[in-house]
Amino acid sequence: MRFVPTRAAGLSRLAEFLPAAGRAYREGRNFDLSAGTRSVTAQISPWLRHRLLSEWEVLEAVLSHHPADAAMSFIQEVFWRGYFKGWLEQHPTVWASYRHGLAQHQSDLSADYADAIHARTGIACFDHWCNELRDTGYLHNHARMWFASIWIFTLRLPWELGAAFFLDNLSDGDPASNTLSWRWVAGLHTSGKPYLATAENIARFTGGRFFPQGQLNEAAAPLTERVAHDRTPLRPRSVVAGQGMLRLVTEEDCLHGLPGCKDHAGMLGIVSPQASGFAQAAVRATCDALGGDTHVGHGWGRAIAQAAHRAGTRDVVTAHVPTGFVADGLHQARATLRAQGITLHQVLRPYDALVWPHADRGFFKLKKQIPALLAALPG
Ligand SMILES: Cc1cc2nc3c(=O)[nH]c(=O)nc-3n(C[C@H](O)[C@H](O)[C@H](O)COP(=O)(O)OP(=O)(O)OC[C@H]3O[C@@H](n4cnc5c(N)ncnc54)[C@H](O)[C@@H]3O)c2cc1C
Repeated sequence: MRFVPTRAAGLSRLAEFLPAAGRAYREGRNFDLSAGTRSVTAQISPWLRHRLLSEWEVLEAVLSHHPADAAMSFIQEVFWRGYFKGWLEQHPTVWASYRHGLAQHQSDLSADYADAIHARTGIACFDHWCNELRDTGYLHNHARMWFASIWIFTLRLPWELGAAFFLDNLSDGDPASNTLSWRWVAGLHTSGKPYLATAENIARFTGGRFFPQGQLNEAAAPLTERVAHDRTPLRPRSVVAGQGMLRLVTEEDCLHGLPGCKDHAGMLGIVSPQASGFAQAAVRATCDALGGDTHVGHGWGRAIAQAAHRAGTRDVVTAHVPTGFVADGLHQARATLRAQGITLHQVLRPYDALVWPHADRGFFKLKKQIPALLAALPG
């Protein structure tokens, strides 16, 4: 596995990257020169995605090496993760309609789709990224943009199938960043403004490795949709005094500590059927360290109820589970838990409470708050 699913490995990669987080990142981040040359980007997304590393510790580490201005390009990227999470949290119908659209398209898969996911399109760069994604569980951000754009506008395949292909293969597969980035490329997130990959841009930022001249649809119209996704306000959270509860760890958050919660009566890890190998191993590593079992697959209600029973409690506490597969799974488990008199408490981390309220519109609104957010980072 290219990314080792432990916190120690994430910290080590972060330490290795830190000297490059200023000017080198700002000037080099868009280049995907992966044929033998390591990209300048951090490549820490699998650890951040599953919160083996937290956004706030990464930001603090960067600020201890560089003045904020010098590292602002990198800092903004880290805030994109919180932006997408907070935005999806406030527009959960986008996730529901993605899952609905995906199910419909999966019932009628075309030969073109099979060619795309098996790297047989004849577009050399696209086929290369397809193999790279399958082999490594990772793609450079620019390659993700080009890939999604070619998928949607040149191959004319449904964006939901492409987003699912990414989630199936990425070590950092994330319902918020992935769904909303695909929608952004399609011209659905920033309505009417699609991202169109061009041969010139690919040639420039791959250092001439690829030049798909004449192969791409470089003048396509954005996708449109009929449904409007209204904003759902964030729910205020009460503080949980989590003593003596069963602690639940999910692939959404593998950090050991949980604010306000100490002395757990027991510990259980659950992993969704959609989780990557990295995610599964991350939850297992956390549970091993904290002394608990891990449940993989379906039947969460029963698994949680049994673990709570063994721990002698009816209160289960977990870090807030954002919109995505895990939240869907816990929603399904609700009836079983309620029947057993079990209450699931979710603790919103201070960083999310700080960032998400600014993520209800475009990124620019959050971007303006970055200096204030940096000054208020939770310790
Ligand atoms: C179509 C598409 C699908 C994507 N799917 C995912 C996904 O499933 N999971 C995922 O984590 N990221 C996704 N991204 C965002 C981004 O490509 C990756 O987070 C980034 O490439 C990770 O590499 P890095 O750690 O070297 O990033 P760096 O450039 O070093 O950035 C540092 C950190 O900032 C965050 N970040 C950087 N760029 C973005 C971005 N555009 N959006 C959100 N956060 C960002 C990540 O946490 C990243 O680790 C997607 C982007 C696109 C265009």
